[in-house]
Amino acid sequence: MSKQFTTINAKPPLQHQMHTTDHHVAELHVDSNDSIHPANLICSLSRQFYNNNWCTGTGGGLSIKDPQSRLTYFTPSGVQKELMTPSDLYVRNEDGEYVNKPLVSKNYKPSACTPLFSICYEAKNAGAVIHTHSQNAVICSMIFGDEFQISNIEQIKAIPNGEVDPNTGKLKYLQNFDTLVIPIIDNMPHEDELQDSFHEILRSYPNTVAIIVRRHGIFVWGDSIAKAKIHNEAIDYLMELAIKMHKLGIPSTCPIGDEKKYLKN
Ligand SMILES: [Zn+2]
Repeated sequence: MSKQFTTINAKPPLQHQMHTTDHHVAELHVDSNDSIHPANLICSLSRQFYNNNWCTGTGGGLSIKDPQSRLTYFTPSGVQKELMTPSDLYVRNEDGEYVNKPLVSKNYKPSACTPLFSICYEAKNAGAVIHTHSQNAVICSMIFGDEFQISNIEQIKAIPNGEVDPNTGKLKYLQNFDTLVIPIIDNMPHEDELQDSFHEILRSYPNTVAIIVRRHGIFVWGDSIAKAKIHNEAIDYLMELAIKMHKLGIPSTCPIGDEKKYLKN
């Protein structure tokens, strides 16, 4: 067990709990007093995202892969994100088996985003995936066509450019004078029907860290939950800025110095 994600050992072993409870698989993987344990992080971040108006009305979802145990944590479907507790989470091992499920009496299901999160883990080697119903993403999907684009803004530097520095082995990042491009796909009646579009867009945009779903929201990932959170916050900030620029008549890719040519009276 990692030092970082210490699990409380007060409960009996997993096998024993599974014999003594018919429906509820042991809480062994979600019970920790460590605030950065994935199960605790998902709940605290979900409350934060709810307060940001990103995950209200049960919308959105969040998933983290624990780099030590290789277990993957998923939010349940149709659950008020601000009220979720660690025992409400689904936890899957590398064989695809659930090693923790919410109480059967709660009548929960795994998040409808689970297949999409899994695509990001497999295709992008993500460490965490965030899905929000951000109004900024929804409005941008109406303003822009197949790509959200924004240039010449400082916060663009928070997004990796897909290249790796040969000397350090670390990801390289966009410069503030670069253009950030995020693909936009059309929505479907059910979230799991977006799988083909996800596969296709990840082939076309191998360096992207996000996909906007038109009139729906956004999926954002990173190597770790910390990186995914930073990408999500930076992209949301940039989408909000693009909407404000659009209202003023300034294109989001406006060259530096040209702003006043576009300003509406
Ligand atoms: Zn959604």
